[in-house]
Amino acid sequence: MMNEKKWLSVYPDSISKEIKVPEFPMQRILQNACESHPNNTAITFYDRKISYQELFHASLAFASALQKKGVQKGDRVAIMLPNCPQYVIAYYGSLTTGAIITQINPMLVERELQHILQDSGAETIVILDGLYPKVKSVQQHANLKNIIVVSLQTSEADFQPDASFDQFMKTGDGKINPVSIDPENDIAVLQYTGGTTGRSKGAMLTHSNILANVVQTYEFFKHELKIGTERTLSVIPLFHVFGMSSAMNLSVYIAGDSIMLPRFEIEEVLETIKREQPTTFPGVPTMYVALTNHPKAEEYGMGSIQVCNSGSAPMPVELLREFERKSGAKILEGYGLTEASPTTHCNPAFAKRKPGSVGIGVPSTEYKVMDLGDGTKEVASGELGELVVKGPQVMKGYWNMPEETAVTLRGGWLYTGDIAKVDEDGYLYIVDRKKDLIIASGYNIYPRDVEEVLYEHPAVQEAVVIGVPDAYRGESVKAVLVLKNNKTANEREIIDYCRANLSAYKVPHFVEFREELPKTNVGKILRRALREELSRK
Ligand code: AMP
Repeated sequence: MMNEKKWLSVYPDSISKEIKVPEFPMQRILQNACESHPNNTAITFYDRKISYQELFHASLAFASALQKKGVQKGDRVAIMLPNCPQYVIAYYGSLTTGAIITQINPMLVERELQHILQDSGAETIVILDGLYPKVKSVQQHANLKNIIVVSLQTSEADFQPDASFDQFMKTGDGKINPVSIDPENDIAVLQYTGGTTGRSKGAMLTHSNILANVVQTYEFFKHELKIGTERTLSVIPLFHVFGMSSAMNLSVYIAGDSIMLPRFEIEEVLETIKREQPTTFPGVPTMYVALTNHPKAEEYGMGSIQVCNSGSAPMPVELLREFERKSGAKILEGYGLTEASPTTHCNPAFAKRKPGSVGIGVPSTEYKVMDLGDGTKEVASGELGELVVKGPQVMKGYWNMPEETAVTLRGGWLYTGDIAKVDEDGYLYIVDRKKDLIIASGYNIYPRDVEEVLYEHPAVQEAVVIGVPDAYRGESVKAVLVLKNNKTANEREIIDYCRANLSAYKVPHFVEFREELPKTNVGKILRRALREELSRK
């Protein structure tokens, strides 16, 4: 049983097993960085550098302008931007007024955007200029009153901060009406997530939830992270909870420089690494795939990067090894979810790393694996079940959804919906999402098992395995593959390769080759979209 908390014995004395969550609101970390390192660069955005002093004062100006517009504590402010300095200004500025931030993916279509705006009741939104028509088209169905527009011209020659955003900041009188924030109870971010059923739900993350996770992650990596000198390559979107935490908040907490890119364009990423020499690079596996397979990756050089945190989706072991061989950087895979602000696990830098595992709990985090039936019995180590977690980073609940909240938060534990197992040292292995499990002829097939084998095939660049309806077997296994640029393979070869490396019942019945796979903006493969598309055929 997991109650022994075996993983804690992996911690050295120098890393605290428990953290004390600071009793101040989230935005205080920006003020702290400004006081301790006022002239340090907080953000590098192409040829623009913004110091902590400038960033802090810009966030206050934004807060003052919001208050002038009538925004009060508890009001919702939506941010729908790619990574850019204005994102960070709007984020910390909104928190300063006590407003609740709703982070929105700029790629959302009208219907999805409308749902979030209606559900959150946001009255203010900060957007990129190109999104204006989309936002206008849903405005009449939402409660939007203030639309603040940012223009980004990102070429080095003509970058100009946007007039509208800047004009808005000037509308404040520089004064801030003090608001009293109760970090433990007041919501800082309403983070919409697909969840397990139905429409997206707003996870209520309090100031303490988000702050706790920043402190937990810092404590876990404190021997790797130097205060005041770290440079983070921030291409993972900030609107995603992993980007928010690793590329923005953690960087501010350690007074580091966040080198921002608004999109993942491979050549630009490589150029930026060469020019800016980042030391850390949080990313999702598809980003490491793209870098590993770029023909000029080694020529550009990625040697400045010391640590990569991979999260959000499984990191195939073969890919991890190949990336490390080419870059010289170390990938530490972690795990988290929106409802846990997000990180609960990571492979340690201070002890054994186990490729294929997502590591051990970060400080102050408890976890166990429960039976797949009603989830009330803990299973033995090595057995599969649903992962449940507990800690100060776990959300307060879903916004206006008491029933969904009661299903997900039970007895103080967050039911993650992920199937997992824990080994004898307490390391966690995520096997799959409960809902991704394929059941063919009565056998349980975890897509991840099959995908790991496919990634080992020399011609395969990306692989996703799904269940498609089958009148005879219930479901049958289908692999959808993207091949490496100069490589070929046919269905027969792939199936034979799987036969040689997998139990017969796991071998795909069908293989489809594609130029690319559908992905979320954060780079996660959209398994559900593929499943829906293929079941219609
Ligand atoms: P999100 O709430 O969008 O961050 O998605 C969280 C989900 O991503 C988790 O419940 C997992 O299913 C998945 N996930 C996150 N990290 C990993 C990982 N390292 N390996 C496998 N799945 C992961």
